[in-house]
Amino acid sequence: MIVTDVDYEVYQWPRRVPIRNGLHTYQTSGLTVVKISTDEGVTGIGLGRDIRDAPEVGIAILNHFKQYVIGEDPFDTEKIWRKMWEPKLVGRRGITTRVISGIDLALWDIKGKVANRSVHKLLGGYADRVPVYVAGGYYEEGKGLKELAVEVEDSLSMGAKAVKMKVGGAPINEDVERVRVVRDTVGSDIKVMIDANCAYKYYEAIELAHKIEKYDIAWFEEPVFPDDYKGHQLISRATHIPVATGENEYTKYGFRDLINDRCAAIIQPDAQIMGGVTEFMKVAALAQSQDLPIAPHGNQQVHVQLVAAIPNGLTVEYYRGSTDPLWGEMFEDTLMIEDGYVSPSDKPGFGITLNEKALKQYKIN
Ligand SMILES: [Mg+2]
Repeated sequence: MIVTDVDYEVYQWPRRVPIRNGLHTYQTSGLTVVKISTDEGVTGIGLGRDIRDAPEVGIAILNHFKQYVIGEDPFDTEKIWRKMWEPKLVGRRGITTRVISGIDLALWDIKGKVANRSVHKLLGGYADRVPVYVAGGYYEEGKGLKELAVEVEDSLSMGAKAVKMKVGGAPINEDVERVRVVRDTVGSDIKVMIDANCAYKYYEAIELAHKIEKYDIAWFEEPVFPDDYKGHQLISRATHIPVATGENEYTKYGFRDLINDRCAAIIQPDAQIMGGVTEFMKVAALAQSQDLPIAPHGNQQVHVQLVAAIPNGLTVEYYRGSTDPLWGEMFEDTLMIEDGYVSPSDKPGFGITLNEKALKQYKIN
């Protein structure tokens, strides 16, 4: 079996209202769909992360990488990954690794379709269902404490037993009040996580952590810049709230340092960003060797398959309609929460069928 073509579709759509985290405001959402065809008629779909910061760069890299994939056996994921990553000037981090990820995900989709097994079974099935949490609690124009509480209640009504909220986009004492409101709203049995999206200096993160420790926080995500490994360590030592990070880390090499230096208690690789399934499984094993759990960042349809395949999978992140207006429409079968859990599809590959009709109008390439 050989790859005959690599094609892609880049989509970008507006959000209902701009949403803001600790550092950025997002007006749009997006998706890069990598489609890999083979001489045996099997097509792999790779759900790539959006490349909205520089779509022209992402598209150029996609075109450049075709030469490394076409003509290869799609089962040779290690060989193809290495061919894309090895050139010194491309592939190693940033948007090029996002592109490698999309291609690798499409190759694993092909493997699953040929084997007639879901990706989580192919990788070594571990669980039939995995815990999930709803990501939200963004800052929005006109969204006060009351609206925040309503959103969180709505997430619980979807079946969630854990919710994550943003911090770092307001003065510290204001965020302390937001965290208090969320804890009061959900009661004591629901997990609450906070995510600063790298907004703090390490000493500000410690100040916030000390002020909210009493609200029983399950983790403090990306308190400081992803490259500030020492800052992560200092925060980890200063608070009993577990530090979580990894959505802006790339490849086994970046995660090796994060894990070996004990920068975080919870490791958050995103297979759409850090190198695809091939690299995700290596990072999961690295974390397991130090008894650290994996709580991937990003797309639930992709990551439910990966968390269900590893023994140290902690939970899956879940985006909902309030953070992505196409949430219920871009796939034919939207992943639903049941009593705090999600279950991986048993369909071959990632089991993802795109709703081409809903997406069509947002295609930008
Ligand atoms: Mg995050």
